[in-house]
Amino acid sequence: SVMPATLASISNGARNGILFKGGNHLEALSHLQAIAFDKTGTLTQGKPEVTDFIVRDRVSREHVLSILASIEEKSNHPLAVAITNYARSSGGNEAIEMDVKDLAGFGLEGTSGDAVYRVGKPDFVGRQEALDFHEGISIELAAEGKTVTYIRDQTGILALIALKDQIRQEAMTTISQLKSLGVITIMLTGDNEKTAAKIAKEAGIDQYVAECLPETKVDHLKKLKTEYTAVGMVGDGINDAPALATATTGFAMGDGTDVALETADVVLMKNELTKVAYAIQLSKKMQRIVK
Ligand code: ADP
Ligand code: MG
Repeated sequence: SVMPATLASISNGARNGILFKGGNHLEALSHLQAIAFDKTGTLTQGKPEVTDFIVRDRVSREHVLSILASIEEKSNHPLAVAITNYARSSGGNEAIEMDVKDLAGFGLEGTSGDAVYRVGKPDFVGRQEALDFHEGISIELAAEGKTVTYIRDQTGILALIALKDQIRQEAMTTISQLKSLGVITIMLTGDNEKTAAKIAKEAGIDQYVAECLPETKVDHLKKLKTEYTAVGMVGDGINDAPALATATTGFAMGDGTDVALETADVVLMKNELTKVAYAIQLSKKMQRIVK
């Protein structure tokens, strides 16, 4: 049987945009010692915009933009949506036939006739070549908290595309509330080191791990679970689902992908990050009433 205090707390949660998929999850929350956060779409708004586009010398800007749009329009990754919008509205009007493969966590590969293109992170297009492209610029852009991606073909890097995603206004408040509850905060992201460092600092997050693949997010959660008795995870993407399942308590952002919503134990219905701290307080209050 469910305790009246549990029922009252579940309905309090519902009124506040927190959906608990069972009383047990509500009880577990008061024990959380650490919480891991995904970056894109969780700590940030998940609506990146292209801020910089640098094309290789003697390469047609409009042509590269057309290739980019013809590849990225096949994906609904937030970065893909942003790049497509930018490319189509900046002169990339040509529709180029393209076969596209999605390599989750890395980027996209497009094939058109004899040409093979790759769009994505430095490791995916060739780390050294990416670093050498307009030497040093990628480090400067990343230090501004921008995600730096590239497009290449058989001849080498064709262009650099930098994107910026705004941090959610309530991210700082949430992190400081969790800190005052004694909870350690960690950010797990597929993004590069410099960008991760900048966003973690802005949000006030204790620790971060950059360049995570979906499997590495799971590994980090397992490791955290050996250090702390109960560990939460907050995420929104397909990429986050395995980590949400591994966590003691998984929280999904309400606008997250279906898989994240299904896997999570708690759903933040209106994407309100601060409700993570509220949910913990609710759980602590409930434990006091039960005892
Ligand atoms: P995150 O963990 O930040 O949500 P992902 O794991 O989805 O990011 O992707 C990791 C990295 O791979 C991105 O930061 C980006 O550099 C690159 N990437 C992934 N998908 C794309 C894409 N469609 N276009 C360009 N770059 C991409
Ligand atoms: Mg995400």
